[in-house]
Amino acid sequence: MTPKIARFLASRQPATPCLVVDVDRVAENFCALQAALPLARIYYAVKANPAPAVLSRLVGLGSFFDAAGIEEVEACLAAGAPASSISFGNTIKKSTAIARAHAAGVPIYAFDSAEELAKIARHAPGRRVYCRILVENAGADWPLSRKFGTTIESARELMLQAASLGLDPYGLSFHVGSQQTDTAAYEAAIGRVAMLFTDLRERGVNVRMVNLGGGFPVAYRDEVPGIDRFGLAIGNAIARHFGNALPEIVVEPGRFIVGDAGVVSAEVVLVSRRSKSDPVRWVYLDIGRFGGLAETEGEAIKYRITTTHDGDEAGPVAIAGPTCDGADILYERANYRLPLSLACGERIELHAAGAYVSTYASQGFNGFAPLAEHYI
Ligand SMILES: *Cc1c(COP(=O)(O)O)cnc(C)c1O
Repeated sequence: MTPKIARFLASRQPATPCLVVDVDRVAENFCALQAALPLARIYYAVKANPAPAVLSRLVGLGSFFDAAGIEEVEACLAAGAPASSISFGNTIKKSTAIARAHAAGVPIYAFDSAEELAKIARHAPGRRVYCRILVENAGADWPLSRKFGTTIESARELMLQAASLGLDPYGLSFHVGSQQTDTAAYEAAIGRVAMLFTDLRERGVNVRMVNLGGGFPVAYRDEVPGIDRFGLAIGNAIARHFGNALPEIVVEPGRFIVGDAGVVSAEVVLVSRRSKSDPVRWVYLDIGRFGGLAETEGEAIKYRITTTHDGDEAGPVAIAGPTCDGADILYERANYRLPLSLACGERIELHAAGAYVSTYASQGFNGFAPLAEHYI
């Protein structure tokens, strides 16, 4: 937690549950990534946290933006981003959304199927398009591979088709999976894309951009390699596979930009045991799966949790949310331990919760309001 967030929580004691985001940390993360990948243009993946304070801070730093839907396009424009800085990066778009983005001046559109390509040709004629390739997501705590991307063979065909549909076959993209902790995933994907890139150029296609997606990890309960390690591995892989004929390089980070800039402050609602002899206590918080912590699905993202009793003797716990839904369990198998002195009514913090939390909160399941947010 940044000193600014610590001061805010101590002095303001905001009602829980709430998310507090230090926007200066967002800016620092953007600059750290730019320093690690000096050749890349950064398109912030808006879906990670679309708060106006985050977007306008990034606009001020000259960031570009990856929007998943027309509402995100409009949020970027409202934050002062020029339309030319926005990419419509979802491969699944309503025709009306494509048409509205085109009318607003959004220049770049993603696709991974012939059907989507036809929609773009019809509703955003002449625009730049890039094809998303299916790559391995091993090493990612939050994989994305099954839903998106196409094979190299079909990408080759689709890029040729894009040109014949009057679109500009601008580039190729991939996503190695979110919270990707293995630099080798990027190296392997760059190798795959480079072969197709060269092949397309030899066939006369004017392809000139490679989009490495997002995936850069943040430290949750476990440490992760620093961003410099990813920068180095990616830089070397690009040099190895492209030599002097460097394409334009794009990255679309979401989690890395906002993740460790946010803290969730929550209250312990109940600490109980199933039976007197059960060593495992159940700790129920006033935030759970439906309050924004959707990425605890499958216990995939393991937030670091701190209490005011840290240092006291600790014991095993299961951690759950406050709703009447049996799925509202955060951690049962991930071997969390919390101080034995932890009691109901006390505040606890979940760290690095700035990404993929605020927008995942339900509208009022069990009567709970969406998560309160403070941008400082
Ligand atoms: C979600 C997403 C991103 C951001 O991924 P992170 O792992 O948060 O960096 C980037 N690009 C696309 C297409 C996405 O869907």
